[in-house]
Amino acid sequence: MPDGRSSAEQRVERVVHHEDPADALRWRVGDVTVTRVPEGVIEISPRWLMPDLTRELLAGVGDWVESYFTAEGRMLLSMHSFVVESGDLVVVVDTCVGGHTPRPLPGDDGFGTRLEQALPGGVESVDVVVCTHLHFDHVGWNTRRVGDAWVPTFPNARYLVSEEELRATRADDGMEVMEPSVTPRAERGLLDAVAPDHHIDGCVRLVPSAGHSPGHVCVEIESAGERALITGDSFHTPVQFAHPEISATYADFDPAAATTTRERLIDELRDSATLVFGTHFAPPTAGHVRRSAGGTWFEGWVPDPVS
Ligand SMILES: [Zn+2]
Repeated sequence: MPDGRSSAEQRVERVVHHEDPADALRWRVGDVTVTRVPEGVIEISPRWLMPDLTRELLAGVGDWVESYFTAEGRMLLSMHSFVVESGDLVVVVDTCVGGHTPRPLPGDDGFGTRLEQALPGGVESVDVVVCTHLHFDHVGWNTRRVGDAWVPTFPNARYLVSEEELRATRADDGMEVMEPSVTPRAERGLLDAVAPDHHIDGCVRLVPSAGHSPGHVCVEIESAGERALITGDSFHTPVQFAHPEISATYADFDPAAATTTRERLIDELRDSATLVFGTHFAPPTAGHVRRSAGGTWFEGWVPDPVS
């Protein structure tokens, strides 16, 4: 995401769609379940994030993008966490904007209630929090404000971040995430800097995908013959499956590397059975990367309710 110092910030209109907890989406990947816990969906001008995503380009992509844009062509940018339950292991992937101000995008205190509803054992039951990268809209609810202190939201969790992402953010913390969102865990010895292909358990592992940020990772799930990939910010919108060359210019650390990563992932995902979870995709949020005569596209998939 753009940092708080960007003049592009002024072009955001903070129209926020908060969601009913009953709207939570839950999918199965083999024996693993994945639950989307929304903080909110924001309308932005696409060109705030991606100057090359013009109205003309969008019009040529196809009707399948309608779920991710308004009728006026504004991008629906979703903020959500994924809760991944693999056997007894409970993993939260990314923690949205949080209760920090000021930030270039709005958080929402209602997230805590929705999170509790998605976690049968409460926040105490979370074993691992994965930070796909250390941008403000992915680490916000790592902590919550209690009095003058930032207190870990998940008191029993170990927090994982790639070694390179932590090193780079310590060297340049332009988004000012370390003190409120990272250091409180590190001080307690509960922050693990890991290899970018780290295995969390037998079903869940990290996938190197640098470009959007120096040490960005995706999250892969494999269980009972099924596979899924959580994108992090390697993709911000499904339009990038059709046009991987479109970078989030104001947010990508290295736009050329981000494009190379997208092309590599598309090659792997296209026409595969892998279910793709977009970390900023508005509902239906998950789907499959398809290829047809018109090019590459994204077929959203809404699961049957999981009991
Ligand atoms: Zn983001």
